[in-house]
Amino acid sequence: MPIVRVALDMPLPTLFDYVLADGASAMPGQRVIVPFGRKQVVGVVMECAADSELAAERIKRVVRVLDEIPPLPAELLTLLRFCSDYYHHPLGATVLSALPVRLRSSEPVTFKEALQYTLSVSGRTLDLSLLPKRKIVQHRILSALQAGALSAAQLRALSPSALTALKALVQAGWVETCALAVMPASFTFNNAHTLTTAQQQAVDAVTQSNSYGCFLLHGITGSGKTEIYVHLMNHVLRQGGQVLLLVPEINLTPQLENYFRSRFPDAELVSLHSGLSDGARTQNWLRAQSGLARIVLGTRLAVFAPLPQLALVIVDEEHDASFKQQDGLRYSARDVAIFRANQRGVPIVLGSATPSLESYYNAQTGRYHLLRLTERALAAAKLPTVRCINTSNTFMQHGISEQLLTALEQCLQRGEQSLVFINRRGYAPVLMCTACGWLSDCPNCAGKLVLHLQDRCLRCHHCGHQARVPHACPSCGNADLQPVGIGTQRVESALQEHFPKARILRVDRDSTRNKGTWNAMRQQIHDEAVDILVGTQILAKGHDFPNLTLVGVLNPDSALYSGDFRASEKLFAQLAQVAGRAGRADKPGEVLIQTAFPGHPLFSALREHDYDRWAKNLLAERQSAGFPPFVYQVMLRAEGKQQAGVYAFLQQAREAATTLAMPVEVYGVVPAAMPRRANYIRAQLLVQCVTRKPLQQFLRAWRPFLDALPAQKLRWSLDIDPLEF
Ligand code: ADP
Ligand code: ZN
Ligand code: ZN
Repeated sequence: MPIVRVALDMPLPTLFDYVLADGASAMPGQRVIVPFGRKQVVGVVMECAADSELAAERIKRVVRVLDEIPPLPAELLTLLRFCSDYYHHPLGATVLSALPVRLRSSEPVTFKEALQYTLSVSGRTLDLSLLPKRKIVQHRILSALQAGALSAAQLRALSPSALTALKALVQAGWVETCALAVMPASFTFNNAHTLTTAQQQAVDAVTQSNSYGCFLLHGITGSGKTEIYVHLMNHVLRQGGQVLLLVPEINLTPQLENYFRSRFPDAELVSLHSGLSDGARTQNWLRAQSGLARIVLGTRLAVFAPLPQLALVIVDEEHDASFKQQDGLRYSARDVAIFRANQRGVPIVLGSATPSLESYYNAQTGRYHLLRLTERALAAAKLPTVRCINTSNTFMQHGISEQLLTALEQCLQRGEQSLVFINRRGYAPVLMCTACGWLSDCPNCAGKLVLHLQDRCLRCHHCGHQARVPHACPSCGNADLQPVGIGTQRVESALQEHFPKARILRVDRDSTRNKGTWNAMRQQIHDEAVDILVGTQILAKGHDFPNLTLVGVLNPDSALYSGDFRASEKLFAQLAQVAGRAGRADKPGEVLIQTAFPGHPLFSALREHDYDRWAKNLLAERQSAGFPPFVYQVMLRAEGKQQAGVYAFLQQAREAATTLAMPVEVYGVVPAAMPRRANYIRAQLLVQCVTRKPLQQFLRAWRPFLDALPAQKLRWSLDIDPLEF
């Protein structure tokens, strides 16, 4: 009896057995439609077997084998098994969540690019002088095809009207379609720069490694990391390999896409991120799987793209927390990428100006190869001067100091751009009654409602709750309600009042909500139609505005006394990144940081551009406190409407953990950093261990207890290598 073991998107840690109809066959990696309960669902065949442990009459029949696309490669199935094991997430749910939505449904998919175009017999013998000269595009296509078959996309690159011309050529019988050829056509490389010695050494180190190796490319902002990626890509593409490039932000992908296209105008490049339509994402995925796409550029989900010729993985801004998925399969795309490169035996490059302490430590201990770039690639582009403004003895208006106003004024006079960075959107983080001290609490969360003056409302940034701004204090009736603290909107309006002639642009999640807005804004900034930018971290990442010479940072201090031990690591990375926006071209840049703690080691390291000293400090602290990267952690999180239920669940889980008496540290049950969100009470339990293996063994032993605990009306999850506390 031909049995297939199928992965289904179910919260159960098993595969499901089905029998194939007479004469039907299926391979591992193939999608199938199977009955489940009263429904029919799509699953992926993980194994084929001759028999099943289930009684024959209980095994249902596969409804249909979906064979319009090739099966998922065995390598990808292995990767997904590893993720399921390591992150303790059900295999079926892991496999299905790695597929584009369209491939999880039973709707037919067709791969539009699976065909190539080639000259027919009559096309090969055609006398080109018989074709009128004015049919320029047809001529171009015919001569391009003389060198070999090309895909529709490659032909499109010849001319925007290539497809119309192609249709005519097919109708004339000179061109015909053929199945996809695997080898890439030759391609152009636009080499923009001669590499500096440091860059060349980095490129050589990676290209000389013909097996797995993890390279940490630690280079200051503007040191030419991207240029190194480009040269590495060129090397790999020439040998017929595919490159996977992971980036943290969807916002950055269109920009990078254009950039890499301009460097490799005829190498196939696709992007994979959640901003694409289902159809486009599926097509791009299939192009990666077919080997047609040579460069795959994407956010974390792209780490699961099938890449038959994968020869190099690059993770840009590897320290960025957005590589970690925060629900469902809680994976770190950076870590999965490392596993993947290792599995495949190819090099991986992790790039950052401020590496995560995990990676930095691995480079120190020799597990990763360290590649250093300590100078900016353009000799003229100097690192900005960083200074602190002590807010404890400075007069401030709307959170802005006199010194910063003066610097902004001078920058305006020079006709240069400035950026005021504040990581808080809205007008003010809270509204307060001056008589009784009432604060605008969110009714559903342990947080405050943020004042949004533009649409005159109070809004919770955690649960989305929205209320009108009250005319008087709901508690005592006093009419004098005051905003406390500052947000982007308040800074924008204060600056507009102070500099009535300046063109000010606010860039935050509220002002860029509509699709395409941010692109338009970027253009505006490039065209120098903006003098002062006010914005959140959206502005910090990877943008290159040559006329921007001044950066002001407001209010970074809360991270210095946060309960999250990673907060100061993140703050340094963020500030180094915003600071890197100043003085990218030939004009010197200046960074002014408003803080009440100008003597803090974080700021002195920033002033001196000394990431190493800062990182070594932090590592020493982490080591003595017993925090990552010196320990491995797992967080059991639970949330529910009833406090008692949540805590009882975690207590029982804790007892089970201690009863197992394994060599791991089990901490107490504590409230989550946000102890109530959207009316859910949230709490957590941390378990850690100095090495990975015993922690994994513990998890395998613990998991069945967790699954058996009564958990009605609760949601719980295991977060391996958690980044949030
Ligand atoms: P990073 O990715 O490290 O921030 P980039 O690769 O974007 O740095 O390089 C910063 C700037 O320096 C860019 O304008 C780039 O064109 C330029 N650049 C990079 N490498 C070189 C080089 N070898 N010679 C001259 N300019 C370079
Ligand atoms: Zn009041
Ligand atoms: Zn809320």
